[in-house]
Amino acid sequence: MNQELWNQIHCKDLLKKVSNGKEVVWVNENLETAQSALSKIDISLKDIDDAEARLARFAPFILKSFPETAGEKGLIESPLTEIRKMKAQLEGEYKTTIPGRLFLKQDSHLAISGSVKARGGIYEVLKHAEDLALEHGMLKEEDDYSIFASDGFKKFFSQFKIQVGSTGNLGMSIGIMSAVLGFHVIVHMSADAKQWKKDLLRKRGAEVIEYDDDYSKAVEVGRKNSDADPTSYFVDDENSVTLFLGYAVAAKRIKAQFDAQGIVIDEEHPLFVYIPCGVGGAPGGVTFGLKQIFGDNVHVFYEEPTQAPCMLVGMASGMQNKVSVQDFGLTGQTHADGLAVGRASGFVGGVMTHLLSGIFTLEDYHIYDLMRDIVNTEDIFLEPSACASFWGPIQLMKYPSTKDYVEKMGLLPKMKNAIHVPWATGGSLVPQEIRDEYMHTHLK
Ligand SMILES: *Cc1c(COP(=O)(O)O)cnc(C)c1O
Repeated sequence: MNQELWNQIHCKDLLKKVSNGKEVVWVNENLETAQSALSKIDISLKDIDDAEARLARFAPFILKSFPETAGEKGLIESPLTEIRKMKAQLEGEYKTTIPGRLFLKQDSHLAISGSVKARGGIYEVLKHAEDLALEHGMLKEEDDYSIFASDGFKKFFSQFKIQVGSTGNLGMSIGIMSAVLGFHVIVHMSADAKQWKKDLLRKRGAEVIEYDDDYSKAVEVGRKNSDADPTSYFVDDENSVTLFLGYAVAAKRIKAQFDAQGIVIDEEHPLFVYIPCGVGGAPGGVTFGLKQIFGDNVHVFYEEPTQAPCMLVGMASGMQNKVSVQDFGLTGQTHADGLAVGRASGFVGGVMTHLLSGIFTLEDYHIYDLMRDIVNTEDIFLEPSACASFWGPIQLMKYPSTKDYVEKMGLLPKMKNAIHVPWATGGSLVPQEIRDEYMHTHLK
């Protein structure tokens, strides 16, 4: 990094540790009350309600095309599961306490694409399809949206392209849904993307273009190709408000799940949510929604790999997407393929400035140990990236700076009532032979 840039950045001591590949936690000193922070952002709860209503309109189509969503009546939603045995395992293995209760938000088991991307990615494809159908006079909002499954609609959408750059899971969500609707869909896959994801996508009718380079390159080429083609729509993971709002709907859904399980989130019962972060869209959208619904009673932390902490370097330095992990001498390479991003979304970093509580980083070997733990204790399989979500609950009461956070917020006496939710971001579609391979991977 050049001297001029270095002179401008904040949190230099912490970032020196980050540069040395050390595990750290960054606590956000710019955190504000939810009300104050949200008043500075020009999207609102009304926009989330609008996204939720759109997903409800599409439920009949989703139910028809993906019968596995019958249990949720055509909504794509995942279980919220208390994981008592995992809590005991983590407390013993990592010599920590996780005060309160530990739940897992199993977006790993979302229908259709088996990852958190089934929220934002699929939502954006549906919104685009709706926009096109409305524009061309084929649809009224009051119609039964199961007509999207008709041959006429498929034929109509086959004139249009959808393109996206991805490390894997976003491509799966966009690819599968676009292909089912009839679009010509092109997924630009970075070098980190797993072979089985490319194979699955091709089988479902998507065109897959592979790159030797990282995520940023795949996005850059994808965007350029798409912009040059008037029939093509580019799903822009870094800047899309639509995608972001699709993720944000998760907050309304989890509120309903808490209510159904008789769990109260309020001043006396704080909620801690921990989400693995790549470019930031998924965790950012979920965080925005959670802050809208739970206000100051929710505390959101992200987790990133020590070699690809793009959101941490952007937010802690104050430079957002002007800096990449490579600027700090890091490789950007990680076994957590969903988190293998060198430069965070500037849009998301901006929105998170006063909303996010902090970010933990962890070395790659932990994610395989944590994967074995969740399989052995709860019989739930998660992909490596998703297992980073457990690092926050392990470390929250261990790091002096996060303990300090808890204390300063006046939460110490309330922690016995706390609800901790690691957000399991993916895994159910991982093929058995790959699971076996992961289960036998020991990096240390
Ligand atoms: C995409 C992804 C993330 C992170 O989401 P971003 O929007 O890239 O920040 C985390 N875990 C998994 C499994 C993912 O696929």
